Amino acid sequence: MSLIVHKYGGTSVGSAERIKNVARRVAKWSRAGHKIVVVVSAMSGETNRLIDLAKQVQPAPDPRELDVVAATGEQVTIGLLAMALKAIGVRAKSYTGGQVRVLTDSAYTKARIVAINATKLHADLDSGQVIVVAGFQGEDEIGNITTLGRGGSDTSAVALAAALAADECLIYTDVDGVYTTDPRIVPEARRLHTVTFEEMLEMASLGSKVLQIRSVEFAGKYRVRLRVLSSLTDPDLPLEVEAASGTLITFEEDTHMEQAAISGIAFTRDEAKITLSSVPDRPGIAYQILGPIADANIDVDMIIQNTGVDGMTDFSFTVHRSEYAKALDVLNERVKAHIGAHAVIGDAKICKVSVVGIGMRSHVGIASTMFRTLSEEGINIQMISTSEIKISCVVEDKYMELAVRALHKAFGLEQQPSD
Ligand code: ASP
Ligand code: MG
Repeated sequence: MSLIVHKYGGTSVGSAERIKNVARRVAKWSRAGHKIVVVVSAMSGETNRLIDLAKQVQPAPDPRELDVVAATGEQVTIGLLAMALKAIGVRAKSYTGGQVRVLTDSAYTKARIVAINATKLHADLDSGQVIVVAGFQGEDEIGNITTLGRGGSDTSAVALAAALAADECLIYTDVDGVYTTDPRIVPEARRLHTVTFEEMLEMASLGSKVLQIRSVEFAGKYRVRLRVLSSLTDPDLPLEVEAASGTLITFEEDTHMEQAAISGIAFTRDEAKITLSSVPDRPGIAYQILGPIADANIDVDMIIQNTGVDGMTDFSFTVHRSEYAKALDVLNERVKAHIGAHAVIGDAKICKVSVVGIGMRSHVGIASTMFRTLSEEGINIQMISTSEIKISCVVEDKYMELAVRALHKAFGLEQQPSD
């Protein structure tokens, strides 16, 4: 007998019919003798609806009250799922985050989980009940309702799996696993049987939307065995088949296979580039430019600076596109004249394409293959950044799909690895 956490996202519980299907699937696992905790999201579209509603009443909603409103979406689905389970003869009980005592800090709308009281849940599980817990929500020390940020139910599920020392956390979603890249762009994209935490973390932060980044960090830190799989298969699919489906997120030391050089291609359109041109280079320039940007709470991603023989430098960096206008304002108002820059030039028509893989550590020539591939397609690289397991290039956004397709092919990602 194992203790397993299931998590179902908004699409998977998007209608009464789908909730009944989830109940059938959960019943199958429970009847096979496993202890099951189910974490659910709100029905798809519901959290957006609640946030919109709040904004109609107060344009910049009070964060505490916004959490009171937003957390109700999940309260509906836990009740409905517990009913659906009871209707087919499975003993089940629903709990809100506060009832379980998912203790968080008080940072409304982006709270962090501090502790989970597993005692009550263990008692229920020992008595043979299926536990249904509301994702995305918790309670701070004095009982205020908090939420964990959009997509937060993934993190709730992983945190519960860690607190209960579960054998596995299954994230059921509307895709059947983690792919080498988005199949909507590359139809030959292949589902990965396994991917390491580090790769998953890079992919999540580079634009892959399969898992909330924080849940991946959490799973890596607490060593939760995590699997992403489809909730759209037949709920009566044999349990052994279902249990081995999807993508397992592994620890590097557990991968015995020879690593492919690259595991996936990630991309994001969410960035914008800013350049301060012809800045007289001297100590403190980077600080004088990026200090005010940091003070304005704007995150910077890539940075490039290289001084020419004339002692002048162009200083470029990228920010999230939603903070682009604000960053330009900060530079024009507070930085440009002060450091004697010739101009502030902005470009929001860019994207970032990245190749990711722990195999990069042992394979040489990955960067040159990437650069050659882009050059053969006539795509100009505007910025490059690297880490131990990824290389990212900023290119003009109209080339994004072409770049992703060409790289997917160049690294042979459509082929099954030889395992
Ligand atoms: N319902 C929340 C959201 O839409 C949490 C989640 O689905 O994970 O962001
Ligand atoms: Mg989600």
